Amino acid sequence: MQLKDKVAFITGSASGIGKEIAIVFAKQGAKIVIADLNKEAADATAAELKATGAQAIGVAVDVTSEDQVNAAVEEGVAAFGGIDILVSNAGIQIVHPVEEFSFADWKKMLAIHLDGAFLTTKACLKHMYAQGRGGSVIYMGSVHSKEASMLKAPYVTAKHGLIGLCKTVAKEGAKHGVRANVICPGFVRTPLVEKQIPEQAKTLGITEEEVVKNVMLKETVDGEFTTTDDVAQVALMFAGFPTNALTGQSLVVSHGWFMQ
Ligand code: NAD
Repeated sequence: MQLKDKVAFITGSASGIGKEIAIVFAKQGAKIVIADLNKEAADATAAELKATGAQAIGVAVDVTSEDQVNAAVEEGVAAFGGIDILVSNAGIQIVHPVEEFSFADWKKMLAIHLDGAFLTTKACLKHMYAQGRGGSVIYMGSVHSKEASMLKAPYVTAKHGLIGLCKTVAKEGAKHGVRANVICPGFVRTPLVEKQIPEQAKTLGITEEEVVKNVMLKETVDGEFTTTDDVAQVALMFAGFPTNALTGQSLVVSHGWFMQ
């Protein structure tokens, strides 16, 4: 029970990677706030966790809204008495070549990935600092925090930006025992990626099988997708690490697609 009685606020945790992190953290004794745009799915995920004996609530939040983020964090604090772990994970993908990217879609991407990370961090740090028992902030970056791919300008820009935010939070949070780290997964077969396969096939004029083999997994050491559990185990390591020795770092989990 590495996270016994810790409270974890996880954005975008009604689906995919965030949901798996919620499941793994709950098994380790954490109380989970499932914070997602999709309230119905958040409630369903919380119910799944509760059925296993865990403590969990679903809260509605659009991470691009300061008021909604503040309200969601307060709801979590009211339910469980504080916040020990933030996983800033909510995200979407929109793919176009730069010359065709609408400014509105560019701003939407930066708002979800960067404004969302900033707003949730700000709201949770307030509680972590006041509680005086440290904390762990985990950002869901990507291989695209380190490397670019065609068609993904705002995603690559935002995911690189998270590393800057993480390093700053690591420096500012240290005296409060608050650590910040970034996880950088390769392709994980979640709804976010399932949606991209036909889109990229159309844009690049190749088959869906070719997108998987020759675009998504081309640079991996074994042609394998990273799994949600792979990512969740790394999140657990960051969440449970007991000292400031491990802070300000970004760890790539990608079957060797990107090697540092
Ligand atoms: P997903 O689509 O399965 O889940 C994303 C969740 O975020 C959904 O439940 C959705 O409702 C929620 N969400 C979207 N916009 C939101 C908003 N404005 N406010 C609150 N919640 C919102 O996607 P996933 O693949 O699990 O992605 C999770 C994170 O992992 C994202 O940040 C993504 O960029 C990152 N990531 C994914 C992969 C991958 O291959 N799947 C790889 C690297 C990084």
